[in-house]
Amino acid sequence: MTVADHTSMEETLDPQDWESMRALGHRMLDDMMTYLETVEERPVWQPIPDEVKARLRTSLPLEPGDPQEIYEEFLKLVLPYPMGNIHPRFWGWALGTGTPFGMLAEMLSSGLNSVPGGGEQVPNDVELQVLDWCKEMLGFPLEASGLLVSGCSMANLVGLTVARNAMAGFNLRQEGLQASRHRMTFYCSTETHSSVQKAIELLGLGAEYLRQVPVNEEFQIDLAALQQAIAEDRDAGHKPTCIVGNAGTINTGAFDDLDSLADICEREGMWFHVDGAFGAWAALAPQLRPMVAGMERAQSLACDLHKWMYMPYEIACVLVRSAEDHRRSFSLSPDYLEHHTRGLAGGKVWFTDYGIQLSRSFRALKAWMSLKEHGIEKYGRLIQQNVDQARYLANLVESSPKLEMLAPVPLNTVCFRFHADQLDEPTMNRLNEELMIRLQEEGKVLISYTTLNGTYALRAGITNHRSRKEDFDLLIQEVARVGGELLDEGFVGAE
Ligand SMILES: *Cc1c(COP(=O)(O)O)cnc(C)c1O
Repeated sequence: MTVADHTSMEETLDPQDWESMRALGHRMLDDMMTYLETVEERPVWQPIPDEVKARLRTSLPLEPGDPQEIYEEFLKLVLPYPMGNIHPRFWGWALGTGTPFGMLAEMLSSGLNSVPGGGEQVPNDVELQVLDWCKEMLGFPLEASGLLVSGCSMANLVGLTVARNAMAGFNLRQEGLQASRHRMTFYCSTETHSSVQKAIELLGLGAEYLRQVPVNEEFQIDLAALQQAIAEDRDAGHKPTCIVGNAGTINTGAFDDLDSLADICEREGMWFHVDGAFGAWAALAPQLRPMVAGMERAQSLACDLHKWMYMPYEIACVLVRSAEDHRRSFSLSPDYLEHHTRGLAGGKVWFTDYGIQLSRSFRALKAWMSLKEHGIEKYGRLIQQNVDQARYLANLVESSPKLEMLAPVPLNTVCFRFHADQLDEPTMNRLNEELMIRLQEEGKVLISYTTLNGTYALRAGITNHRSRKEDFDLLIQEVARVGGELLDEGFVGAE
């Protein structure tokens, strides 16, 4: 086609042949359903061949391609090499598994391509409904406000922004931190997720003023050390502003004593923020609920729905007790976004007034549909099931002479290692690292790692609705086998 041809007619990105696009869509849907149904038959993860990487470094497409062929490329290049977190034997980091119905909801949301920033459109009402359900599930009052965001990192950033602005004692949005007469200090345990420090840095507070307080043997924040740090900061003329409590730490699943943290915040006139990325959802399991006691006293709470609520990425939620504080931190209405009382620019709640994003996806739909599909009691049972599986795994570790537990298991996370008496600590650390990588490369089971008190730990974080007990039997077998092989090879590892 010549340049003249392009300019002589109007174009669109819609298909010229809707029937073949529809047929392709049906095929994709069938393929993906089969893929999910048979996920267990494939490796959890596999290394990416160089040839595949090379085919993802080609030149910019200038001319239209055939959707059919593009899909074939997806099947060859992308589909076989994902992260693997939807597999029943994936327990790395804290990752969710998603669901088939959640996937379909994402397709519907993408088709609508609605932007629930504000205005009079039902997607906003769906989000308000989901937020009300979250408040109910997590023990927050219905007058609280909230926002669905991309992940708990963003939820922490939003919550801590409100904490900083509401506690500053002056108009921080207008005058900036420059106007601050006192240094604002924030507190959390050394086990706190890095996203909290990132938020503090982004807020211009300085990582140094996030006081990382030591933990006790249960990996909970040491309350005496915390109170001492607050007192010292007051004496130094600083302004203790906020405590960040953990409901489920990333390393070991530890819960800080949230009720005591809430008490300290009340006494000291400080903001209480809880990072409950996955652990907050323990609230749904009757036997686990006592662990989250005190969480409902937080001024702000951040949690994910894509981890332990098993929804497809991305979705997380931040709740703020004072809707007024929340709105005051983010509301900004230029002329072109002025809220009307009628028409599309009507509607009471504009989510753009409660967060950073203006354009945002309709992620509420998959939450609304998923919560209706399964009901809250089933989510509670699955969370309990994962916790029971963690205990089951811990028992297997404890009864294996070659394995050693490295931390208590309060929730869903098991930290352990392969142990050999004849090896010194540095060699044992290297051996376990090599063991973990070999397991990943072999693709039968997948776990991650962390370091606890200087010791390299194998770490299984169980937020997977597809795992079965037998999967953990296999994990233990494989760890013992690969560990034994490394010993037989006379493992010393890289110095
Ligand atoms: C995963 C996690 C986060 C960050 O959440 P994202 O959804 O990955 O942004 C924060 N805190 C804890 C405890 C987490 O496990």
